[in-house]
Amino acid sequence: MRDMIILSTLNARYSHASLGLRYLMANLGEFESHTQLIEYTIKSDVNKMRDELLAQSPRVIGFGVYIWNVNETLALMQAIRAAAPDVVLIVGGPEVSYEYDEQAICQLTDYVITGWGELTLPKLLAQIIHGPKPLMKVHIGEQAKLADLKLPYDFYTDKDLTTRNIYVEASRGCPFKCEFCLSSLDKTAWAFPLDAFLAEMDNLYQRGARTFKFVDRTFNLKPETGRRILDFYLEKTHAHPDDPVFVHFEVVPDHLPELLKTAITQFPAGTLQFEIGIQTLNTTVQKHISRKTNLTKARENVEWLRNESHAHLHVDLIAGLPSETMESFAQGFNELYTWGAHEIQLGILKRLRGTPITRHTEDFAMRYADAPPYEILENIGVSAEELANFKLFAKYWDHIANSGRFTQTLPMIVSNQPYERFYDLTQHLKAQWQRSHSIALEQLYIEVANWLTARNPEHTEHIRAAITADYIASGVQGKLPWMDKGLTVQTRTQKAKHGQSRQERHQSE
Ligand code: SF4
Repeated sequence: MRDMIILSTLNARYSHASLGLRYLMANLGEFESHTQLIEYTIKSDVNKMRDELLAQSPRVIGFGVYIWNVNETLALMQAIRAAAPDVVLIVGGPEVSYEYDEQAICQLTDYVITGWGELTLPKLLAQIIHGPKPLMKVHIGEQAKLADLKLPYDFYTDKDLTTRNIYVEASRGCPFKCEFCLSSLDKTAWAFPLDAFLAEMDNLYQRGARTFKFVDRTFNLKPETGRRILDFYLEKTHAHPDDPVFVHFEVVPDHLPELLKTAITQFPAGTLQFEIGIQTLNTTVQKHISRKTNLTKARENVEWLRNESHAHLHVDLIAGLPSETMESFAQGFNELYTWGAHEIQLGILKRLRGTPITRHTEDFAMRYADAPPYEILENIGVSAEELANFKLFAKYWDHIANSGRFTQTLPMIVSNQPYERFYDLTQHLKAQWQRSHSIALEQLYIEVANWLTARNPEHTEHIRAAITADYIASGVQGKLPWMDKGLTVQTRTQKAKHGQSRQERHQSE
């Protein structure tokens, strides 16, 4: 009997199907036929996972390790090692590709593969299974030519296609050098052969896939390539307008040539989404993190997308970067708000293993958490308390603004000082609950109304009308204290947008 191999990872959510594991499966060669791909989530029970994995009597188990699953994966590997010490354990993935000597998970495992795994994993398996036994514990991943890699898309099951996000990639790497980002180490980007890639996309589409999330770090690097990809999805959308696709891309904000714009304008609402990295609007901070975004161009492009296309737009900002204070962050936030993106996603700086941001540790007194996700705790310009308040701000911004559940009320909340006013609201909500989770939506509507009416009692009627409209639109079954007793369930049902996604809520503004 041939030795059973398992490739596994703990995804952040069930909906996040692992593209990395599927690439490894596709390129295993002789080992593919006796390898199983088994995915869990970080919420899965350790003992249950251990028992299920060991029930397959594996000779080798390889785990994909990321910043979001390293603790849970370590716990699972410890449980496996205790129960079945002969099972060979391999780890690979971004979290174990740098600074591996000091990590408990690397001390526990038999082998570590750093960087790309598609060529190195089958070579390592051949040594483990056929001998001679590998001498080295750490195996530096060999980088393949993308044209030589087998594409992994057949490893999405029919169930994956209908119940999970389908991650795809037309290119790897990034030519930019933002110092907080692991992709900055690539120094360039490589493209997969486009015809073969699009043939795979067509196959996924014919099998029923409708949600495609591109993991390319910069989709809009090469306009001709981007245009062909957009045209591919446009053709599907035009051929079957009643059964549209949803396509998500990460883009750099200051590069939007006509060739892409003319295709983007043709996508109907609800079919196209862009994640647009801004990170900071402070040019001094930009220099410190080696980010070269042309902010004037970025603003023009985001405004153009908002005004001329139906694309759903996320922009990203990061707090805690070297030389950014909360005052300069607030200025940047207020400026960015006026650009009109549907969502502003707020993050906090993380010290990813291997990234060059560490060169600032001393000069800016950057202090990071020791445990994943290694968030910044404080630096020379931002105190721990300010960062704690920012995290609360970010959570409530997500619940209230990004969720699309307060579309009528949000302009009243932010008025002409978005950061300052929302910060004040956040402090009000903190005083009510001392937490930002497990809050009933109805309570959130009531407290936002209380905060607004306390500041503008003369506009109470207007405020309550806006909150009531948002409340009904959210589809919550209940009644706000001031709501019209005559509002029937039927009226609600007619007005409510049940089951709407964030994008749909934003785009019905
Ligand atoms: S932040 Fe974006 S643009 Fe900068 S290096 Fe990373 S992937 Fe590239």
